[in-house]
Amino acid sequence: MSSRILESVVAITSQKDTDDLAYSVIATLAELVPLASAAIVQISHENTINPLVHLEIKQVDDKPTYHWDLPTLELNIQAITTCLIDQHPVDDESDDAQAHYFPISINDSFSTALYIKSAVDLSEHYSVIKGLLLIYKNYHSLLQESEHDKLTGLLNRNSFERRINRLARIKRPAQPDTLNNDSAWLAIIDIDYFKRINDTYGHIGGDEILLIVAQRMQAHFPNRNLLFRFGGEEFVVVLEKMKKQQAQATLEEFRALVENHSFPFDESLTVSIGYCELSSFDYPTTVIDQADKALYYAKENGRNKIDNYHELVVQGLLTPQAEAGDIELF
Ligand code: GH3
Ligand code: MG
Ligand code: MG
Repeated sequence: MSSRILESVVAITSQKDTDDLAYSVIATLAELVPLASAAIVQISHENTINPLVHLEIKQVDDKPTYHWDLPTLELNIQAITTCLIDQHPVDDESDDAQAHYFPISINDSFSTALYIKSAVDLSEHYSVIKGLLLIYKNYHSLLQESEHDKLTGLLNRNSFERRINRLARIKRPAQPDTLNNDSAWLAIIDIDYFKRINDTYGHIGGDEILLIVAQRMQAHFPNRNLLFRFGGEEFVVVLEKMKKQQAQATLEEFRALVENHSFPFDESLTVSIGYCELSSFDYPTTVIDQADKALYYAKENGRNKIDNYHELVVQGLLTPQAEAGDIELF
């Protein structure tokens, strides 16, 4: 047992980002503890449950098979809330198999918990479970630092590509889903004439504006796990599972929100936004390039506006770029 635990610690600490870390911890737990199901979940301010990772183990021909992130996770919100408030494990015995909730105090907040379901009594495994959660917590805080921008707290550019690739992997359907035509969208948001703010109020004044814009983004966009500070005064937002009109409307609301916000120094401030569809089959660099071209168009054509790459191409206002697959290498 002890060498298996050691191997697990090595596997867990070789992860490079917090999402992979969560998967690795759950996979390890499933090896060391007799589980039917496990998940790491976060509770939002609005009391909705957001699973970071979810594993169901099903017996097929007497062999355990792993099923990740099935949309079948049913949790007892009351039990989770009690567990998070008391910061103590809670058993939910209302089920045929027992469900247990353990608090995980990551991010200095009390909003994350481990859910485990098992047909057998787990009390003899509690020390292993709690030990793994402590390793998760400690390593999470190390990785967290390397993934986030220090000034705004948003994800940084380094973590962008890995997350986008994962999103594309998860989204890529085995068969095209003809019923559900919702897409993901990638937008680049760039502050207009930001250099002027720096020139007038200094770098520290500029930093304060960047921080406020980032906070507004966190409050406005649905998933803060998909907000990035890409460069100086440039941000990237990924919007998932939306129709184009809805993505456009959400971005438009944000544009108007910045325009109408009263920033310090009585400055009026605006942003320009370029966006495009984020298809599973595109390279992240291609998508960024397309959104960037739409942004450039918005900058050249009045600023404080939103442009969509494909619309500009259809209207003949932008020439489509060669896709990566079309480029002749030899
Ligand atoms: P445009 O409307 O065309 O986007 O004009 P702009 O002035 O916003 O664009 P430009 O790219 O010329 O200037 C961006 C400025 O952002 C230049 C740089 O001094 C400033 N900047 C970059 N990173 C930071 C930062 O971390 N803090 C502050 N305060 N300023 C930054
Ligand atoms: Mg700018
Ligand atoms: Mg810029």
